[in-house]
This record gives sequence, structure tokens and C-alpha cells, in this order.
Amino acid sequence: MIISVASGKGGTGKTTIAVNLALFLARENSAKVQLLDCDVEEPNAHLFLKPKLDTSQPVTIPVPKIDDSMCTLCGRCAEVCAYNALAVLKDQVMVFDQLCHGCGGCTLLCPEKAIAEKDREMGVLEAGKSGSINFVHGRLNIGEAMAGPLIRAVKERIDPDAVTIIDVPPGTSCPVVESVKGSDYTLLVTEPTPFGLNDLELAVGVVRKLGIPIGVIINRADLGDRGVKDYCQREAIPVLGEIPYDHKLARLYSTGIAILNEEERYLQIFARIWNLIESQVQVELQAQSG
Ligand code: SF4
Ligand code: SF4
Repeated sequence: MIISVASGKGGTGKTTIAVNLALFLARENSAKVQLLDCDVEEPNAHLFLKPKLDTSQPVTIPVPKIDDSMCTLCGRCAEVCAYNALAVLKDQVMVFDQLCHGCGGCTLLCPEKAIAEKDREMGVLEAGKSGSINFVHGRLNIGEAMAGPLIRAVKERIDPDAVTIIDVPPGTSCPVVESVKGSDYTLLVTEPTPFGLNDLELAVGVVRKLGIPIGVIINRADLGDRGVKDYCQREAIPVLGEIPYDHKLARLYSTGIAILNEEERYLQIFARIWNLIESQVQVELQAQSG
């Protein structure tokens, strides 16, 4: 089962929920547990889980390399590139590596076979263990614009026999879609404020387009207003859990300590969240099977 944990904006406590759900499952559930941190621009789940990393591998994409002696400047490659990564000038073809998505289209369609491919490193994948939790994350190189290939590399590590928790990048852009797609369920973490509601609505729109069932977790639930709850009621989106504002949690966060490693009383909240996810995934599977 794949559970993605997302939020329409940063700072809502998304990583806190992902990490503590993984810790809960590792303690209370007999299944294998994985945590994949797909927030590759700013991965920080490792700060809480402190995994022992034993794998580090560069992630590359193939970008075109033009052989000027074979190129006739016909312009076909620039026409087929959907990402404007190629420009045909009067005496050469320029390649903008940072824009290239590595689709291979230009190499395939060059009539002169003047295009070869070279690997461009865009980040690194690291993996290891935190207790019984299998941990994987990606680190995007500084200044790198494209997160998609690195997120895909992290997701290739999904173990079909495990419960996989995916920490999704914040927002609603392409890296979010890349991280969330294929999930059995998406938890959207938000705060009970007008800003939280606005970003929740955007995130719900994206995840619904992917056809993935949604549940909401309200963090710092005793602050703010009722807007998020009223919205969830109107949209028939279940609120699976509410985490109160608690000075102790803020202190734990600031020192890189996961809630369940220190505050046992929160076990009940994560147990309830997990039970509700399980039952809703079952309902969804039954509905799909007719
Ligand atoms: S398609 Fe090939 S031959 Fe034509 S401009 Fe591009 S590299 Fe040159
Ligand atoms: S590999 Fe794809 S994205 Fe990259 S330059 Fe060629 S056509 Fe464009």
C-alpha cells in the first residue's frame, strides 16, 4: 500500500505526519515499512529518522550532444523538443542542458544521426535503514530546475510488499503530481487558517484529478477557525486526525526529534489515522472491483 503525505504549502507539518506515521507502523504493524522522501529540493525526513545510509548513487538524465560535423542545421530537433531545450543558430545547434527532460526525442528524430547522448548528473539518491524502516530520499543538485527524474528514481525503490509512506514536496506543481501518482491514498496536511484552506483547496483539486482518495489532517488544530472543517464537510472529505498546538511538539521539531520517539500519548492519534486510512482504502478497492 502506498500512502502519500502532501500539503498545498510548506510548513504545515507534512514531514512530521509522514515520519510519525512510518514510526507508528514500524511499531504497531506487522508489515514492512518504507519511507520515501520525495521532497528532493529540501529533504528533511532524515533529520527525524536519522537513518544509517548505506547507498549513495548519482541520478542522471541523458541530454543530447550534437556532432557538428554531421549536423546539417535542418532544425528538426528544435521542432520536436517540447521543452525549448534546443536552438538552431546559423552555424550550430545550442543545447540548454538545464531545460532538457531527457526524453530522447531529438536523438530519435535527427535525420542525420548527428545526436548522441551524454549523462548529466542532477542529484543523488541515498538509502538506508532507520530501525526497521527502509528509508530512501533524493537530493537535488543546487540550482537544478527539474525534480521529476530524481523523484522517479526514488519511487523506483518502492517495495510492493511494504507499506510505503511518501513525503511529497509542498505545493501543487509537477513534482507533487510525480510524487503522488500511483498512491492508494493521499493524506493532505493543513492548518485551520484561511491560508491553509486556500492551499488545501488547490491540493484537493490536483489529487482528485489523479483519482486518488483523500483524507485531511489538521495540524495546530486548536488555533485558527472552522473554515477547513466546513470545507471538508461540504466536499465529503474525511478529517482523519487533528494534532493540537503543543509547545512540546514545537520543541521536539526544533531539535529534530520525532513525536512518537518522545511523546507516547500521540500514539492514539496515529493509530486512529491509520485505521481510517486502511478502512477507506478497503472501501475504495471494493468499489473498484464492482
Ligand atoms: S535534427 Fe540533427 S541535423 Fe537537424 S539540426 Fe538537429 S542535430 Fe542538426
Ligand atoms: S532529449 Fe527531449 S527534452 Fe532533451 S533536448 Fe532532446 S527533445 Fe528536448
